[in-house]
Amino acid sequence: MAKNTVGVIGGGQLARMMIPPAIELGVDIRVLEEAEGMSAEIAATGVGDYRDLDTVLAFAETVDVVTFDHEHVPPAILRELVARGIEVHPGPDALLYAQDKLHMRAKLTELGLPVPDWASIESADELGAFLADHGGRAVVKTARGGYDGKGVRVVTDASGADDWFLALAEDGRGGALLVEELVSFRRELAQLVARRPSGEMAAWPVVETIQRDGVCAEVIAPAPGTAGRVADLAAGIARSVAEGLGVTGVLAVELFETTDGRLLVNELAMRPHNSGHWSIEGAVTSQFEQHLRAVLDLPLGAPDARDDWSVMVNILGGPAEGTLQDRYPAALAAHPEAKVHGYGKEPRPGRKVGHVTVTGDDLEDVVYIARSAAAFFAD
Ligand code: ADP
Repeated sequence: MAKNTVGVIGGGQLARMMIPPAIELGVDIRVLEEAEGMSAEIAATGVGDYRDLDTVLAFAETVDVVTFDHEHVPPAILRELVARGIEVHPGPDALLYAQDKLHMRAKLTELGLPVPDWASIESADELGAFLADHGGRAVVKTARGGYDGKGVRVVTDASGADDWFLALAEDGRGGALLVEELVSFRRELAQLVARRPSGEMAAWPVVETIQRDGVCAEVIAPAPGTAGRVADLAAGIARSVAEGLGVTGVLAVELFETTDGRLLVNELAMRPHNSGHWSIEGAVTSQFEQHLRAVLDLPLGAPDARDDWSVMVNILGGPAEGTLQDRYPAALAAHPEAKVHGYGKEPRPGRKVGHVTVTGDDLEDVVYIARSAAAFFAD
């Protein structure tokens, strides 16, 4: 019988946005949520800790393919699933590169892919040596556990990461930090591709991502001025990463476009990604549908844009009081062209609680409408 039941570990908005295409395709989607009442609650068949082997096993045994809303499931648990013959996409060997920035930097370097200058450091002395070689400024990152800019710090002094070294030593993890050159970039781009276990790949247009305080605020698809060389370069890099790391499902490659015109890989995510939300309305096949197709090893859909421009603006924080829905009457009336997505999450400062996408043929108009629709939800 054809595989048709997809189990998603994690009940956040990424799992939630897989549900509509699962319904459209007739795919049976089941979610293991961390706690009751999460974003993907409507498809939840289990509640429990993804760090607990028995919980994950009990869930995995009810589905054909296991995939993820986030990258935090411990590798040992994933290897145990695979050892028991359960299909996991992306698999533990690939996922490790999205879980550990030092592994990722080492592997991409080995594959000859462009990354910022980097080193693995275990002491203030090693940080000092790197700073001396890089004009006195560098970016230090924790190898694991960072997200939305947490665990990323610009340093100008050899003692600038002492607290992180101390924390690593104290919790017995030992281990190293990643240090890399402070890249002088013109802008940040993201290239998404999907890859099936059988190897077929599809790449969406490269997009521009605009971050505020380390959090993605807006996405413009395609990234302005990228027809031709930059688009080909970005897609080529992402395809090489997907193939070289054996990624299955959606892969997001975050890139720096440097002031001297190079593309460098910053970060990887192996799941649908904030930089691909525009594709729900803006592409023939959304990242969420494509992820389901890819993990089920079904033929991929066309990733082409449906319109000249798509702009996605995150709703960060949400209303100071009440819910997003309280603002719907005014927001939807003001901007009938805007597609508003609410994630069913409690508003809280800085939290991603929804997004707005607008598509059209005039970039300025599209940006304006998307921003002003999103602004209805901010205080
Ligand atoms: P996270 O995994 O927490 O999202 P990232 O590694 O993506 O962290 O870094 C967050 C942000 O910090 C990036 O989007 C970028 O704006 C900035 N940044 C990260 N690395 C560098 C670097 N080497 N040079 C300059 N800016 C950087």
